[in-house]
Amino acid sequence: MLHEIAPHQYHLEYSTRQPGKGDILLICRKGTVLCRAGQEEIEYPTADQIKVTGGQYLFSIDDQAFFLPRGLEEPIPEGWKLRSIQTFRTANPKHLAYAGWLGSRLAQFYAEHRYCGRCGAAAVPSTTERAVVCPSCKAVYYPQISPSVIVALVDGDRILLTKYQASHSTYRNYALIAGYNETGETLEETVRREVAEEVGLQVEKITYYKSQPWPLSGALLAGFFCRLKGSDSITLETQELSEARWVSREELEPRPDSPSLTGEMIEQFRLGLDPLSQS
Ligand SMILES: [Zn+2]
Repeated sequence: MLHEIAPHQYHLEYSTRQPGKGDILLICRKGTVLCRAGQEEIEYPTADQIKVTGGQYLFSIDDQAFFLPRGLEEPIPEGWKLRSIQTFRTANPKHLAYAGWLGSRLAQFYAEHRYCGRCGAAAVPSTTERAVVCPSCKAVYYPQISPSVIVALVDGDRILLTKYQASHSTYRNYALIAGYNETGETLEETVRREVAEEVGLQVEKITYYKSQPWPLSGALLAGFFCRLKGSDSITLETQELSEARWVSREELEPRPDSPSLTGEMIEQFRLGLDPLSQS
C-alpha cells in the first residue's frame, strides 16, 4: 500500500527547526508539488537549490527533513515544474511520492487556518505541536482526520464490487463500499449503515482487517470484511454509485502491490487470505 515505505522510516515528531542545507522543500500549490521537470522519478528541490526565507518543518523520512517553504520568490525557477499529486499514486520512489501527498495535505491545513474560526484574528503555527493557535482567544486547530470505512462484503465465493458515478468520484475502476463515519457512530455501525444505504443489504460477522491513512482526502480508512446476512438482492443508491455486482473469486483480476487498502482487500479475498476465509 502507498503508505508502506519500509525500509524507509517516518518521523512525525514535531519541531520548529528551520530549513537548512540538504533539507527538502515541498512547494505545494492546489494539489500539485514542485518536482524536477522532464523526469519520471520524483525529485524535489532542496533548500540549497531554491532560495527561501524560512519554512514550516513537516516530518522526516530516515534523516531527510521536509519543509513547507516561506518567502519563495516567483516565478518558479527553471528546470522545475508543478506535478499533480494524482500521478503520485504509482510514482517512484514510493517514499517520496508519499511524502508529496502528506506535504500537500499539511500545506492545505496551514493555508485553510490562517485565521481563527472563532474570533477572526490571524492564527500562527504552534511552537509545541502540529497545530495552529490563535494568539488572541487561544483557540487551537489541529489537522482534520476523517475516519471512514472500506467494506468487503462477502457471500461464500463472491464479493460485492461497486463503481462510483462519474459525478461522485474520479476513480473509474471497481471499488468496495466505503463511507465516512458520522458523529456518535462506532465504525461497525458505519459499516452496517453504509452497506444498507448504498446497496440495501444486511451484514454480519463484521471483522476488522487493517487501516490506511489516505492524505489525498484527509481520511483514515478502516478496512472491514463482513458476510451477507439474508437476501442478496441489491437496491442501488444511484446518487453515489453507478453499479454494484457480485463477483466470484475466479472472475477477479490479480492486483499485486496495490497502492490502496481497497485493492489489497480485494486481492486478499481473491487469494483466500482474508480474515473470513481464514476463520
Ligand atoms: Zn481566536
